[in-house]
Amino acid sequence: MTGTLHLVPTPLGNPEDITLRALRVLREVDLVAAEDTRVTAVLLRAHDIRTPLVSYHDHNEVARAAELVERIRGGANVALVSDAGTPLVNDPGWRVVRACIDAGLAIDVLPGACAAIVGLAGAGLPVDRFYFGGFLPRDEGPRREALAELAGLHATLIFYESPVRLGATLDTIAALWPARAVCVARNLTKAYEQWIRGTAQDARATLGDETRGEVVLLVGGAPEGPTIAPDALDAAIARLSDEGLGARDIASQLAAATGLPRREVYQRALALSRSGPPRT
Ligand code: SAM
Repeated sequence: MTGTLHLVPTPLGNPEDITLRALRVLREVDLVAAEDTRVTAVLLRAHDIRTPLVSYHDHNEVARAAELVERIRGGANVALVSDAGTPLVNDPGWRVVRACIDAGLAIDVLPGACAAIVGLAGAGLPVDRFYFGGFLPRDEGPRREALAELAGLHATLIFYESPVRLGATLDTIAALWPARAVCVARNLTKAYEQWIRGTAQDARATLGDETRGEVVLLVGGAPEGPTIAPDALDAAIARLSDEGLGARDIASQLAAATGLPRREVYQRALALSRSGPPRT
């Protein structure tokens, strides 16, 4: 008889956030595959669980996934955990899940703590549709592009962000979408949990020079319907034209800021240019 791969969430910060089922599974399985065995050893010790540990991380994932599949095929029950929260969510794990599916082996997914979902629940933003973007690119140009691609999405945007880059990311959002609601959910379930709600500029001001902690960043989605009134679009085109931008650059900038199709803005800029600026 073959075994099962159990995906087991662990606490994000508050040690009480582990389920009875998670503890039972960690106790009963033959092996726990952990992102960092030292971190998981502390958790297991706290609950007097003596199951053997093996590492499963970004650098050994391919080889380890194959080994684990063989163990499970041979009858072993294996639990996969990450350092905190739900394994696979911006953490290693999807390869072993895929490999088990391909091998016809059973997978048992336990529900539990996940920073993105805790942030979403408390942000005060619509939750009927959301987009999880993981970590944004580190550099300003690619980060701005990645955000601009999401400008038209009618869904709450969720990102994981390093506290060191949070200020710069808020600046990018403030420039792109000055009016959108933002929530910085910091140190969730920990002693210094903090929720900052407002615009990106408000959040920047509240944070000041703070560069510590763990952060989920949430941004309100594009409003339903036109994101900019026709008069305001014409005024924005005129302003960018006065700054010396051509129709192509104007279209790129305003499409990113409003979520309007680039082609639509480009054609409007061209139409306006017939009676004077902008330049093409
Ligand atoms: N698998 C985890 C989960 O289920 O949330 C996420 C792992 S990801 C490598 C780590 C990132 O999650 C952190 O950089 C931070 O953005 C976010 N995160 C983890 N714990 C958090 C917490 N207690 N408060 C806020 N964000 C947290």
